[in-house]
Amino acid sequence: MSSALAAYRDATLGCTRCALAETRTQVVFGGGNPDAEILFVGEAPGFHEDQGGEPFVGQAGKLLVKLLEGIGLGRDDVYIANVLKCRPPGNRDPRPEEIEACESHLFRQIELVRPTLVATLGNFATKLLSGKPMGITKVHGVPQQVTLGGNAVTLYPLYHPAAALYTRSMLAVLEEDFARIPVLLGREAPAPAAAPLVAEPIVEEEEPETERAPERAVQLGLF
Ligand code: URA
Repeated sequence: MSSALAAYRDATLGCTRCALAETRTQVVFGGGNPDAEILFVGEAPGFHEDQGGEPFVGQAGKLLVKLLEGIGLGRDDVYIANVLKCRPPGNRDPRPEEIEACESHLFRQIELVRPTLVATLGNFATKLLSGKPMGITKVHGVPQQVTLGGNAVTLYPLYHPAAALYTRSMLAVLEEDFARIPVLLGREAPAPAAAPLVAEPIVEEEEPETERAPERAVQLGLF
């Protein structure tokens, strides 16, 4: 990690800017390659991320890694962050005041990583970073040119992997949108996958029943 990014991470670990500080286990700052060309932005830590301190380590994270592998990338090639750095209780939606309190952490992360491509996963990240109210169903898969952290970057809205876990047709769209990432990074397009991810069963196994909100996951991609 670049020293400035590491220092910023350390400074956020005790953040008390919003009430989520009272219910979180720990701040989930984000992680991955600090020099990544592509930075993914999800919504907020869930149960497993709150426990482990790393973003996207639950079922949605496993799917994210599969999608990355499908385009020849691994977790270590990318940087992964979230709109909120702390878990909302019960995985409820982030509240406007929480997003407002937390957003400068994300903007600073983007400024320090300096990616050329920022892929937003789901509505919350897309609306925050595009600055527009358009929902993910309208804008997914269409790159936008924006200025973030003082740099010109390509913003690439994608469905949230958690939504694709519950709605299989969304997974096919997510895969198609992912397939355009190499070209957006100025690389060669990958060979088409022999078997689409849609064929692979995704089993919801680990999160305790009381910690889950499946209907929320569906919402992630639907408005
Ligand atoms: N895990 C994360 O870190 N972020 C999400 O948005 C969902 C799961």
